[in-house]
Amino acid sequence: MAKPVIDYKKCISCGTCLQICPVEVYARDEKDQKKIIVKKPDACVECRACETSCPQEAIKVN
Ligand code: SF4
Ligand code: SF4
Repeated sequence: MAKPVIDYKKCISCGTCLQICPVEVYARDEKDQKKIIVKKPDACVECRACETSCPQEAIKVN
């Protein structure tokens, strides 16, 4: 199964992936609320909504 990966050199923590993922793969880091993390990669259903919606093209699902 493919899993999403965030390129933190590109990510601007806009939260779009967090809002758009239908299965709540993403979450805010508990220690750093500005950071978005791939909290539940195994839940990913490979819809690629996050990949296509990220304004920074920071997400790869593969
Ligand atoms: S949509 Fe892209 S830029 Fe925005 S928080 Fe997610 S990975 Fe970062
Ligand atoms: S590909 Fe779809 S299910 Fe997987 S993390 Fe992105 S939005 Fe969520």
